[in-house]
Amino acid sequence: MQNELFIFNTLTKTKEKFTPIHPGRVGLYVCGPTVYSDVHLGNCRTFISFDLIYRYLLHLGFKVRYVRNITDAGHLEGDRDEGDDKFAKKAKLEQLEPMEIVQKYTLGFHDVMREFNTLPPGIEPTATGHIGEQIEMIKEIIANEYAYEINGTVYFDVEKYNKEFPYGQLTNRKLEDLLEGTRELSGQDEKRGRLDFALWIASKPETLMKWNSPWGWGFPGWHIECSAMSSKYLGETFDIHGGGMDLQATHHTNEIAQSQACNHKSPVNYWMHTNMLTVNNVRMSKSAGNGFLPGELFTGNHPLLEKGYSPMAVRFFMMQTHYRSTLDFSNEALQASEKGYARLMAAIKLLANLKHASSSTSDIVALEKKCYDAMNDDFNAPILVANLFEGARIINSANDGKETISLNDLNLLKKFMHSFVIDVLGLKSETSNSSSDKALQGAMEVILEIRKDIKAKKDFVASDKLRDDLNIHNILIKDTKDGPVWSITE
Ligand code: AMP
Ligand code: ZN
Repeated sequence: MQNELFIFNTLTKTKEKFTPIHPGRVGLYVCGPTVYSDVHLGNCRTFISFDLIYRYLLHLGFKVRYVRNITDAGHLEGDRDEGDDKFAKKAKLEQLEPMEIVQKYTLGFHDVMREFNTLPPGIEPTATGHIGEQIEMIKEIIANEYAYEINGTVYFDVEKYNKEFPYGQLTNRKLEDLLEGTRELSGQDEKRGRLDFALWIASKPETLMKWNSPWGWGFPGWHIECSAMSSKYLGETFDIHGGGMDLQATHHTNEIAQSQACNHKSPVNYWMHTNMLTVNNVRMSKSAGNGFLPGELFTGNHPLLEKGYSPMAVRFFMMQTHYRSTLDFSNEALQASEKGYARLMAAIKLLANLKHASSSTSDIVALEKKCYDAMNDDFNAPILVANLFEGARIINSANDGKETISLNDLNLLKKFMHSFVIDVLGLKSETSNSSSDKALQGAMEVILEIRKDIKAKKDFVASDKLRDDLNIHNILIKDTKDGPVWSITE
């Protein structure tokens, strides 16, 4: 194993040497999607970032138990137990059963994750499959006197908890500051403290998804599922817990409080948070209306997109920014990533038949070390990519006969370029070798040439008709500054 791995821990706000609880093994929990709608590219950034982390841990030889949940119940519109149930609302809108909504968007999520070449987690538990575990945990928290029941709803007593444990530690906030930022309780509120949150919510007559419990019919609050499922599969204290930064202040803060109140232990040794994907510096989200879907990105079928981008070009785009920095979406950046991805894959292809010489003109051993140093420094993928580009430069140069590589170095170069590009960054070749794809590619080149001629003759009616007719057959043509590009829209 190469050197030591350092991880930035949100809990301590420092990079810490990674020491797993059990040598050679890692327990990793990542908050998964709420499956009431399609995942947007921002959600994908978080899951792809953790895929890189999972892949690197595997590459280092760790045996990783990777758990990523599916939230399929209990998530209300507001993070603080207010608003409608997201699933019930969507079910009404689409005239489906809530579990049909869950199934539809879970399948869609899996398809997208496959497109991006992410490895599936070892366990993908659902909230509805673990109602019993959540009830047991709530019972224990009540027995430990950190929660109370009112009219069939159970609330976590934040102020009582804070007397013993720092509730706001994850975001470095004192209780007084948190209280100041929260609205005062009104006569209609049942809960005692304004920061108190629901562990169990009593159902109303119209509630569709409900279960029986010691407190009557109802459903779990959103936060308890992750505490119950992570401790079930990874233990009361485990190594790494991850999610997007937006989950720190409420969801993860409450997870820590619940687990501590139930098990008398801090649940997680390393908290990791990914930064947000933004569009024109505004966080991508469903509510901001700037959340385009992966499918739209692949086809280019969205007003913000000049053209379609392949899943691997998008994945590579994400790898070129560190997971703790914001990543701003732009067509220019994606087009640069397209080229970068192609350059890297072309170099890998050349590497297979590269000839060796008696000595090397570059220090390959040092280059490999730089790759490991980058990833060991809190998974610094952009620095890794810069070093892999240097590897690609050496490969091209050696192929052109301008540089030489010894046999030992060539074997080393093959080994680590392959490991980092394919296994760790998770990139794969996208060029199709099927004869029908090649024929389509050729036919489209011919058609685009004909359209160019028609346009040159200023027959725009005919050129638009050609474009519209192709569209009927799910072929989208977009005119970009580099000429027309085409993609298949389904
Ligand atoms: P949700 O389905 O809303 O529960 O979100 C699933 C995951 O996506 C969570 O870990 C969020 O923190 C993350 N997420 C949401 N929006 C973004 C964004 N714009 N960029 C990166 N991650 C995001
Ligand atoms: Zn969670």
